[in-house]
Amino acid sequence: MAELHQETVTDVHHWTDRLFTFRTTRDPALRFRNGEFAMIGIEVDGKPLMRAYSMASANYEDFLEFYSIKVPDGPLTSRLQNIEVGDKVYVSRKPTGTLLWDHMRPGKHLYMLSTGTGLAPFLSVIKDPDIYENFEKVVLVHGCRYINELTYEKLITHELQHNEFFGEEVRKKLIYYPAVTREKFRNYGRINTLIESGKLMRDIGLPPLNVDDDRFMLCGSPAMLKTLSEMLVRLGFTETRKSDFREFVVERAFVER
Ligand SMILES: Cc1cc2nc3c(=O)[nH]c(=O)nc-3n(C[C@H](O)[C@H](O)[C@H](O)COP(=O)(O)OP(=O)(O)OC[C@H]3O[C@@H](n4cnc5c(N)ncnc54)[C@H](O)[C@@H]3O)c2cc1C
Repeated sequence: MAELHQETVTDVHHWTDRLFTFRTTRDPALRFRNGEFAMIGIEVDGKPLMRAYSMASANYEDFLEFYSIKVPDGPLTSRLQNIEVGDKVYVSRKPTGTLLWDHMRPGKHLYMLSTGTGLAPFLSVIKDPDIYENFEKVVLVHGCRYINELTYEKLITHELQHNEFFGEEVRKKLIYYPAVTREKFRNYGRINTLIESGKLMRDIGLPPLNVDDDRFMLCGSPAMLKTLSEMLVRLGFTETRKSDFREFVVERAFVER
């Protein structure tokens, strides 16, 4: 297992009975771009059991953070949800991914549209000073079923705003838009509905979507990605393919097995 590195868990936080976050030590030799994912896992029956995970920490931080679902009978997460400080976690050496802000044509507004744990890669991207240098507005939309799944609100709306290096840019440019589908909330409904009805853009004070100015990164369930990609294509946007950089990029938050 030469390409796996073992890290030590340094912190675990359970948000709900379905969601938790944990931090590990970080091998300084591990390089990644904000928005990328790695394979992580634990040893089961003497072998590493690995799954794809987005880094929720930024590439300049000296720890790794992961934001995880708990699937009750999931081979990895039924076990991973019981990890404790001091336990070991495997991390693969070669992070990769498509959620890269400069793999799209230059634009004015960067929309990050996520559902569930699809928030994870964007927690890394919103800590990247480059996005504030390259976009006039950065919009993070997080859709969930229930209000208690709108995790990380404090980081997004408070801690980042006071970051000593780019807090001022965050205060000027970052717009956080949480949305909920299964209980009453100020932003109620699916992301595609909030966009198509015009409510999202009205609420955040940005103009209707247009191909010249708006860029999108999508991360969520396979169904969410299909719906939103089809909507964007209908509106005239094109997905980046390899080195043909266009107006949106897509990453799955998980695959259906
Ligand atoms: C590119 C990529 C990045 C990923 N990043 C993350 C991440 O940052 N955090 C994370 O928790 N998972 C992430 N995943 C999913 C992850 O790889 C595993 O599927 C997840 O940890 C569950 O593993 P498991 O072995 O317990 O169950 P699996 O056998 O992997 O999954 C069982 C079932 O659980 C459901 N499921 C799996 N993952 C999720 C999820 N995240 N949200 C809702 N339902 C899910 C699906 O219906 C799936 O069929 C990512 C997947 C991909 C492809």
